[in-house]
Amino acid sequence: MSADLQTPAARDWSKSFWRGLACKCPACGEGPVFTGYLRVTPKCAACGENLDDLRADDAPPYFTIFIVGHIIVPLILIVERAYMPPIWLHMVVWLPLTTLLSLAFLRPIKGAVVGVLWAQREKP
Ligand SMILES: [Zn+2]
Repeated sequence: MSADLQTPAARDWSKSFWRGLACKCPACGEGPVFTGYLRVTPKCAACGENLDDLRADDAPPYFTIFIVGHIIVPLILIVERAYMPPIWLHMVVWLPLTTLLSLAFLRPIKGAVVGVLWAQREKP
């Protein structure tokens, strides 16, 4: 049996998930996974792993909206029931908070998605 017919070892998706969540390369955990705010680096600066073809698509925004929505909406309901503030105060508080939380969560969530995508591929 030749070497290329053997089943390659699976990658540890849990480890690459946590490395991606820390915005580090899913392969080595050393180099940064992003070159900008959300642009995935084509090649890891530390280990040289090719990350160029990992397309996260709409998954990171989906998970971000899901998580931020589950934080903000209960808070809005709790504050409304307890204090009944005017609508303008809701807008002044919740819109910026929603924006800031989304911007803060999107990058690590995209890193985690890229990490899981990387782990789904087989080792060469
Ligand atoms: Zn690396």
